[in-house]
Amino acid sequence: MTDRYAVFGHPIAHSKSPQIHTAFARQTGQDMTYEAILAPLDGFAESVAAFIAAGGRGANVTVPFKEEAFRLASRLSPRAQRAGAVNTLMFDADGILGDNTDGAGLVADLTRNLLCTIVGKRVLLLGAGGAARGVIEPLLDQQPAALVIANRTVSRAEELAELFGRGVRACSFDAADTPFDLVINATAASLAGDLPPLSPRVFTPDTLAYDMMYGRDTPFLDFARTHGARTADGLGMLVEQAAEAFYLWRGVRPDTAPVIASLRT
Ligand code: NDP
Repeated sequence: MTDRYAVFGHPIAHSKSPQIHTAFARQTGQDMTYEAILAPLDGFAESVAAFIAAGGRGANVTVPFKEEAFRLASRLSPRAQRAGAVNTLMFDADGILGDNTDGAGLVADLTRNLLCTIVGKRVLLLGAGGAARGVIEPLLDQQPAALVIANRTVSRAEELAELFGRGVRACSFDAADTPFDLVINATAASLAGDLPPLSPRVFTPDTLAYDMMYGRDTPFLDFARTHGARTADGLGMLVEQAAEAFYLWRGVRPDTAPVIASLRT
């Protein structure tokens, strides 16, 4: 019988996940389907239960259900535990496993696709929401020389710095005014077409400015480019986090490069 997978979100029509997983399945010869499910804002758990009852084997979870998925899981991977959020669910006889593949997806995109070495580098992470929290541990595992979290609400950055320890520092946007090798925009500012009030001094010609947002150019990438930095959007992260989920479900690693290339066109 064909195995069923899905992505749950609200809204969900914009999701590229069905396209990505369908391409992975075709490429690796997996007998599976992948659909997008619009869960009611007050009915995420019920939607997931109905999907499991209908034979669902696993799911991705996107905005605004990642924290609810964390609570719904009967067991959590260590990386989901540290991220405090779940973007991947696997259903089996033991219940619901919750995982978080966002951080691994970002690191894979940076190191494999963009050839950006993180070890020994100075990293500035903008934002202290769910996306930022999910990537801190995987970034630290790459052993950067420094990891600084800057956020509009500084206390949220300070909470994350305290939670993760390992020399992580927190500050306001305008207090980050020295050069960094890697500047990652994990704020939701780009969604609203806003630019975090950053000093141009964080950018040099050797800086990679990375916006987790994808699908259009953003004020952050434009600002970074204007001040000499190399830039990248979050499309590669999206495909790489999907590949990590696919591997969890199917035990096969798809080739991400052709899928990223086809989404770009
Ligand atoms: P959250 O709502 O959890 O966090 C929002 C963060 O953005 C907070 O730190 C908030 O600051 C900050 N923020 C919001 N608006 C502004 C603004 N106008 N100026 C400055 N800071 C602002 O969102 P997520 O963490 O879930 O998502 C963040 C981004 O990451 C989104 O663009 C999302 O699309 C992207 N993303 C991409 C993925 C990919 O695969 N490429 C995966 C996951 C996320 P404060 O604390 O002060 O409110």
